[in-house]
Amino acid sequence: MEHVERYLAPTRLQQALAALGGPGGAIVLAGGTDLMPQSHAGRLRRAPLLLNIRRVEGLDSIRVDGQTLVIGTLVTVAQAMRSELVCRHAPLLATVGEKFASEQVRNAATIGGNVCNASPAGDLLTPLLALDAEFELASLAADGSTLTRRVPVAGFFSGPGRTQRTGDELLTAVRVPCAGPDQRARFYKGGTRQALDISTISIALVAGCGADRRWHGVRLALGAVAPVPMRATGAEALLEGTVPDAASVAAAAAAAAAAAHPIDDVRASAWYRRELLHNMVQRMLEDVVTR
Ligand SMILES: Cc1cc2nc3c(=O)[nH]c(=O)nc-3n(C[C@H](O)[C@H](O)[C@H](O)COP(=O)(O)OP(=O)(O)OC[C@H]3O[C@@H](n4cnc5c(N)ncnc54)[C@H](O)[C@@H]3O)c2cc1C
Repeated sequence: MEHVERYLAPTRLQQALAALGGPGGAIVLAGGTDLMPQSHAGRLRRAPLLLNIRRVEGLDSIRVDGQTLVIGTLVTVAQAMRSELVCRHAPLLATVGEKFASEQVRNAATIGGNVCNASPAGDLLTPLLALDAEFELASLAADGSTLTRRVPVAGFFSGPGRTQRTGDELLTAVRVPCAGPDQRARFYKGGTRQALDISTISIALVAGCGADRRWHGVRLALGAVAPVPMRATGAEALLEGTVPDAASVAAAAAAAAAAAHPIDDVRASAWYRRELLHNMVQRMLEDVVTR
């Protein structure tokens, strides 16, 4: 990596934050599964310091805080899939892992790296948007204490590879409201292969389904069909408070496809993405309705 002059692998959060806030900033390295290919392709920005955060204590835990599941930034996709707490309180996130890369990559890829890389095709972004997640960001204050702020997922992503995180901030955790007993959730990923593929599109659905079978709190998030993950709010409104039937499912699928802003790129044309989205939203909704 010829972009950097120094390498640091601190064990304490404050050391990491001090390094990040230093002159010229730093490139943060977690699992490296995005960073290394970007470096080899010559797409990495220059910074004097490569900051490896993998040894920083306390960033790889999974815990419940009241009604919120708190997942440390260094938790890998494989750890999240296997975590009893994630399976119980955010089952949607555990299922994403099954469609994420390969076992080898899942063992290195961190939750925080996926979020901070902010690719429109990042597989965790749509589930986190549908789950109303919050991101915990830490930086060092002038007096040496740690400043923490929480940013809701809505509005966190500002463009491909861009977020509201400032250069001196480290993502420390992802906070997800614990799923209620009536939560229905799905993650679908469209690509050219079943495994080891970057999403052509992705869709995440979360809805509560009461005893009367009416849906509430409907969240339908779409990925890789706009510069940032987006909610299909028109489709959500068509389903909210209803017992979805064939007509409303078809209308919601059409509304989701109409709301998307896909582009042509190496993976698919905009036309194909919109068609795929329409068909997959329809199939996903039918699957939830009929179970
Ligand atoms: C073969 C292969 C297959 C893949 N398949 C998929 C897939 O199916 N789905 C998918 O979504 N992705 C996939 N990826 C991309 C990648 O694995 C994921 O995005 C992964 O989650 C990135 O995590 P990481 O820990 O490796 O991040 P890194 O590469 O270490 O970092 C990624 C970015 O985030 C920044 N960063 C990391 N942690 C923090 C932090 N705590 N605070 C601030 N900034 C931080 C880094 O500076 C860098 O800019 C694949 C990659 C490869 C090589």
